[in-house]
Amino acid sequence: MEEMGLVPQPPPLEENSRPEELVEENAPVLIDTEESKRYLRKHLEPDESPEQFLEGLELKRSLDKRHTLEGNIESRYAYGEGGAANAKIGSLDSIFSYESVRAEDIPEGVARILQKWGNEETSEANTRRLTSFELEVPGSPARLNVTDLLPEDYRIFINAERDVSASWVNRGERYIYLGTDVTTPGGVMTLLHEVGHTATEYKRTDKEEARYKTARKQNNDLKPGQYEKPSSEAMALVLKDERDAWAFALKKIRPLLTKETSTQFFDREVIEKYIHQTCLSSYSDEMREYVDKDGTLKVLFGKFLDLFR
Ligand SMILES: [Zn+2]
Repeated sequence: MEEMGLVPQPPPLEENSRPEELVEENAPVLIDTEESKRYLRKHLEPDESPEQFLEGLELKRSLDKRHTLEGNIESRYAYGEGGAANAKIGSLDSIFSYESVRAEDIPEGVARILQKWGNEETSEANTRRLTSFELEVPGSPARLNVTDLLPEDYRIFINAERDVSASWVNRGERYIYLGTDVTTPGGVMTLLHEVGHTATEYKRTDKEEARYKTARKQNNDLKPGQYEKPSSEAMALVLKDERDAWAFALKKIRPLLTKETSTQFFDREVIEKYIHQTCLSSYSDEMREYVDKDGTLKVLFGKFLDLFR
């Protein structure tokens, strides 16, 4: 884990990651609508104090560590070349299998995106394909087969050596890249969230899908200080998809996280706090740059001009 300086880095944005999915010609035009502004007003996470922001980062760090009943373990899971494996995650058992991959089987986007983000550990030597992943509650019939929730044509890639600062789903190339060790509470939740994105995809009509793709593209270009703002409709569509994918993840994990199985870091309330204070708030913080408290979009061109005053 790299040392953090005085200035905290924001949690990495998963999903900010599909520059290769270009918006086609005749892409739908997304505009500011009262409905989408209302949605943003209602669902953007509350603005965080610096303390809450740091608390969120700390929580993410804890959840991304391996974890047993006794507490956190510093090391990652020792992945081999492949095979069947199991690991404790809190009081739950994970049973999974993975395999080595050849360089030509790694989606091009994985290397390109991670290099762009400063992660160079994307060689085939570090990459594994996660072929199955299941969670069980010892002594109980409660179980969750995560890979069964994924459409059949999707593959999941993981990094055997280290955490990388991104996880995402690429719907064009049909794969999920998981940047966090899957044998951690954070890894499990991130995987379920990405699987959730593949589930929301099937709920959209073709027309809705085209609008969603355009919204993603506009939001991927969203950077503080940029003076071309995304429309409120684009932001609302992305925020809604993020919320839906987290709702999917929570719904799936809830039956396994009971009073009996709950541990310090794999606990319903802790997970919900993580989702709102860390994951969704990173989107909200970016979007809030563009939306005033009353839901009015700020004119960022004015902000840009401010720099020269
Ligand atoms: Zn997401």
